[in-house]
Amino acid sequence: MEITLWGTRGSIAAPGAETVVFGGNTTCVEVTLSSGRSVIIDAGTGIRRLGDALITRGDELDLVLLMTHIHWDHVLGIPFFGPIFRESTHMIVDGFTRGMQGLRRVFSERLVDGTWPVRFDDLLARIEPGHVLAKGPMELGGALIQAHRLQHPQGGVGFRFTENSTSFVFLTDNELRHDGWIGTRFEDFVSFCRDADLLIHDCQYLPEEMEIRRGWGHSDVESVAQLAVEAGVKSLILFHHDPWRTDEGVTKIVGRCQYLIDRAGILIPVDAAREDTKLRLPA
Ligand SMILES: [Zn+2]
Ligand SMILES: [Zn+2]
Repeated sequence: MEITLWGTRGSIAAPGAETVVFGGNTTCVEVTLSSGRSVIIDAGTGIRRLGDALITRGDELDLVLLMTHIHWDHVLGIPFFGPIFRESTHMIVDGFTRGMQGLRRVFSERLVDGTWPVRFDDLLARIEPGHVLAKGPMELGGALIQAHRLQHPQGGVGFRFTENSTSFVFLTDNELRHDGWIGTRFEDFVSFCRDADLLIHDCQYLPEEMEIRRGWGHSDVESVAQLAVEAGVKSLILFHHDPWRTDEGVTKIVGRCQYLIDRAGILIPVDAAREDTKLRLPA
């Protein structure tokens, strides 16, 4: 399994000199399964360059797009995803139940709307909803994909990919809290992440920033460190960087997270998601 990070930023794209190390594009992650099949998570602004890469690679464009939810930063890249303008592309949209609806809304309903010059129904690609993960796990090219509800305003879903004995969990836009909704409490995420080889988790805030941000649906570094320790994950990548967080600020969060985990006496390497990097997990 190989994971490519095309967009790592949260809330809004944040390009600039202060974000070049960890990246300014919003959420888009590509999971390449051992079978060679690519699964895309979210259509943030990072999906533009993924589209270029897919077309350049000449891969057969039979794609699966898993949506975590449909907040702007997770859908706004879709009109710039080149494969949707090609007749040969087939794309299944699954994950969040209203994922397809959120993608459609980025385009104009009628040509006179003035919000975007192309209508969704005029796209050349065949794009259709999957409706699989709402009912249970999805099997794809020898891998198993499971979904889990998120603690986030208006909802959302995270994913666990398992191939043979390797597992990867992706949870963004998730507020870890012990008093969360039923099914999305801290301990529920401990179970979902149990023994994962890699956990990528939302870590937008510092604990001291949470007082006015409680309920916004994002986690602080102390909660994420605690989750990694209690779930016994093998490695941790911090994700959904705050748009105001400079590279220096993100580096400090990584250091703080590593300190908290080391203090627990457990060996879990921590890093922050860096746009344009690949993470390889043994099959
Ligand atoms: Zn987000
Ligand atoms: Zn969100």
